[in-house]
Amino acid sequence: MSWYHATMYDAGRPAGSLWEETAPALADGADLGPNGDDVCDIAIIGGGFTGLSCALHLARDFGADVRLLEAGPLGWGASGRNGGFCILQPTGLSYDSMISRYGEAEAKRFVASQVEATRFVRAFAEDEKIDIEPQGEGELHVAHAPSRYAGLAHERDVLNRTFGIAARLIPSSKVQEQRSCGGGAEQWVPGS
Ligand SMILES: Cc1cc2nc3c(=O)[nH]c(=O)nc-3n(C[C@H](O)[C@H](O)[C@H](O)COP(=O)(O)OP(=O)(O)OC[C@H]3O[C@@H](n4cnc5c(N)ncnc54)[C@H](O)[C@@H]3O)c2cc1C
Repeated sequence: MSWYHATMYDAGRPAGSLWEETAPALADGADLGPNGDDVCDIAIIGGGFTGLSCALHLARDFGADVRLLEAGPLGWGASGRNGGFCILQPTGLSYDSMISRYGEAEAKRFVASQVEATRFVRAFAEDEKIDIEPQGEGELHVAHAPSRYAGLAHERDVLNRTFGIAARLIPSSKVQEQRSCGGGAEQWVPGS
């Protein structure tokens, strides 16, 4: 059984997205059709974030002759449905579990790559003049109940000590003032 509607898997019936609707039109002269020229340095399959970014950087930064092959409209897949969060920890694992499963060195490499990725997205949007409406410099992790606050204090310590990420605890009263939710919270700024 699938969690999503069947159209989610069918490139022939693409659902529109906010990103598509609010994106500027493609540049004049953009060549989207097959041109019969099937010889290139590099063929990239898939026109979501990964393929498009790969194609752009290979062509622009390395002068490669690139073709991008997409089964549906560009950005049709997960990239078009993205929530727009550009944040760390894209995994269900806690930092402790990550370290015990993969070791501290590997966990550090992973977290560093996430910090780099968030910086890359921001710098890329600035360079390319893409109006992504960035919201703040950090994240707010909220404790859903007072008992979760201690867990956030521990996470703050791990972030500070092991990963060198500035994190601080915000008392519950302050969070309630700002966000009308219970418990306490933790905030960090990537790499600051
Ligand atoms: C609902 C939702 C919300 C999300 N929210 C966030 C978020 O807030 N923050 C975040 O960081 N991540 C989020 N993600 C994850 C993120 O969107 C994906 O990790 C990212 O878009 C993946 O990009 P991609 O280019 O690898 O894949 P996709 O965007 O899926 O692109 C793959 C493309 O390859 C094409 N393709 C596949 N096979 C072939 C083939 N054989 N021939 C030709 N073309 C082919 C597909 O048609 C598709 O267009 C979200 C994902 C979903 C589904």
